[in-house]
Amino acid sequence: MFFLRNNGNAATMKVGLMGGTFDPIHMGHLVTAEEARQQFDLDYVIFVPTGSPPHKEMVKISLPEHRYLMTSLAVMSNPYFFVSTVEINAEGPTYTIDTVRHFSGSEKEGPEVLFITGADAILEIFSWKDYEELLRLCTFIAVSRPGYSLDRFRETLDRACPDMVNKVHLLEIPALAVSSTYIRERVALGKTIKYLTPEPVEQYIKKHGLYLSG
Ligand code: ATP
Ligand code: MG
Repeated sequence: MFFLRNNGNAATMKVGLMGGTFDPIHMGHLVTAEEARQQFDLDYVIFVPTGSPPHKEMVKISLPEHRYLMTSLAVMSNPYFFVSTVEINAEGPTYTIDTVRHFSGSEKEGPEVLFITGADAILEIFSWKDYEELLRLCTFIAVSRPGYSLDRFRETLDRACPDMVNKVHLLEIPALAVSSTYIRERVALGKTIKYLTPEPVEQYIKKHGLYLSG
């Protein structure tokens, strides 16, 4: 459905995927996606909220409906941003490889997929399911959070897997220390979250009483 606007020619499209729990989505995610879109000339950025994330089973996560709706509210004003339900609708845990396969289609006809993720996560890629196929199907945009040394990242990556270096682009994002954890903690303490997330998301959190119990 995202491919129709480019004269139906999916093969020439560049699509950014941004996976996350998005509990809730915040300005850090949005600024990152917009910066990636512009720097890498992406046709779209698709936000993919996780269903039941394999690494977060122990943590209490808001219902997928809430996370999907908040993400939709947050991207409403950006014509290049979309939200996908592919992971939310999947039964059982989903992995990055499944999602990338879903969007890249067959290798010849599908769009070029760039997966946007935190730089620290990339260093753990060897523990990801089918990471070799993943590296064939997509490239990565590794985003640095404030305080993160991209030089050290490059060195570590070079040492661990020199072949990967041209599959990973680095993207430095202006200082945005906000995280979903920080927002949830602030809500639980009765503190304002204004400007940390778009206003409709802030209102949604209030209306549904999310995060009140920390
Ligand atoms: P939590 O605090 O619950 O872990 P989070 O803020 O890290 O939430 P996620 O949904 O876990 O958000 O992250 C989705 C993606 O966004 C990940 O790739 C993560 O590295 C990236 N990300 C999160 N916060 C920022 C930020 N402030 N700047 C840039 N990227 C971010
Ligand atoms: Mg996180």
